[in-house]
Amino acid sequence: MPSTATRSPIPLHWKVLTALVLGVALGAAINHWWTPQTWASLGVHNPAAFLDFKPADDNNPSFAALAARFLGDLNEFLGKLFLQALRFIAVPVVLFSLILAVASVGNPRQMGRLGLKTIAIFLFTTALAVVVALLVASWVAPGTRVPPDVRASIIAQYGSQSAAGLQSAHALKDSGVWNYLLNILPTNPFNAIANAQILQVVASAILIGLGLSLIPKDKAQPVVRFAEGLVEAVMQLVSLIMVAAPFAVFCLITQFVSTVGLGALTSVLAYALAVIGTLAAILLIEYPILLFLASPRHNRMTPARFFRGMAPAQTLAFSSSSSAATLPVTIQCAQRLGVPRDIAGFVCPLGTSLNMDGTALYQTISVVFLAQLYGVDLSTAQLVTVGVMACAVSVGLPGLPSASVAMMAIVLDSVGVPTEGVAIILAVDRFLDMCRTIVNVSGDAVAAVVVAGTEGRLDPPADPDALNTQPPPSTSQRP
Ligand code: ASP
Repeated sequence: MPSTATRSPIPLHWKVLTALVLGVALGAAINHWWTPQTWASLGVHNPAAFLDFKPADDNNPSFAALAARFLGDLNEFLGKLFLQALRFIAVPVVLFSLILAVASVGNPRQMGRLGLKTIAIFLFTTALAVVVALLVASWVAPGTRVPPDVRASIIAQYGSQSAAGLQSAHALKDSGVWNYLLNILPTNPFNAIANAQILQVVASAILIGLGLSLIPKDKAQPVVRFAEGLVEAVMQLVSLIMVAAPFAVFCLITQFVSTVGLGALTSVLAYALAVIGTLAAILLIEYPILLFLASPRHNRMTPARFFRGMAPAQTLAFSSSSSAATLPVTIQCAQRLGVPRDIAGFVCPLGTSLNMDGTALYQTISVVFLAQLYGVDLSTAQLVTVGVMACAVSVGLPGLPSASVAMMAIVLDSVGVPTEGVAIILAVDRFLDMCRTIVNVSGDAVAAVVVAGTEGRLDPPADPDALNTQPPPSTSQRP
């Protein structure tokens, strides 16, 4: 398990939570007390130009103003550096884990069976998340609780940011369903890798893995070992990156709260709480029930074991908002839950792209929230459309920070809710993204447990921390 989590006496998740609280407090203080007058007292009368390094006659910045700008930029740089480091590993991890998994399952019939079970459990959990989300959104009706003036001011502030995302969502929608399906198979896998087209990367990895499983073992072996070495190297890199997680969370949250302020958060509090509460219900009720049912009768998996086993992946998911970057740790955690390595290596990478319960749930509540906010009365048929679209959009979304916000325009469009409402969602997205990513990665591990359980190959250890998840060098060799 990531060495960082065990070396220090304080578990990583406590450090991350402490960083979160400190970041929110500092961000709120800056947002509240650092006003244009503060800049003026430091010799800066045109803060926008000063912060953009543009010349302005009325600016005569003092040393303190320069230091403040430097600290702000450093804070932003450190947060982005962390996210970028995680993006750096996202594509190779998905590609090589899946090649390795498909090649090591070996037998195409066995892979077909595992594949069907995996897809079935993905569909079931995503659909259930969406149904719960629809019920909660209709019951809480968060959209009726935002004052109209707040809505207008948030749209004015975030309108331009949402426009870029909307453009790419529209481009995707305009290409049509058949083209979308056709495009899953890339004409050039290197292009897909270079452009981080995750669904295309998944398709390429499955095909390469399948090809490897069909050729003689001595020819496949060098490629499999190459993939194995790379996956392990990336896992070590993730352990290193995790050391920085608390600092990164502090930087990202400080920046977010200092820009947005707690005012915007409280005005959409009912919406944010509805999302967080529903995510919690999935994590604390639905998943433990599935795990209980999937584990052997003589060795049931309790919620305590599940959360202990999954803590490293959930902490990283929360810190990074990226299920793709969390993938190596998710695979390790699934093994800590007693899933054999080949099944964990097969189900989790597929889930990173195809199984996003948290994202589908979030999209559903958000669209119903915006419909209520704009006074669009959704019929039952339209609510079903929202649910189906949210499931469809969550499949194939890259497991990257804020990936679902832009794509939400497609769901909004499908039921005639104004797409500029995405701006309102953006105002609170960072924190909700952290929370939904926890559910996304947990859902992948749960699916791996269920698949292993139905194959009769699940063996939950009493103490997940005692389990060595490092693969022996030759586990991918086929018999
Ligand atoms: N950040 C999420 C993930 O990586 C995707 C999303 O934006 O919903 O799983």
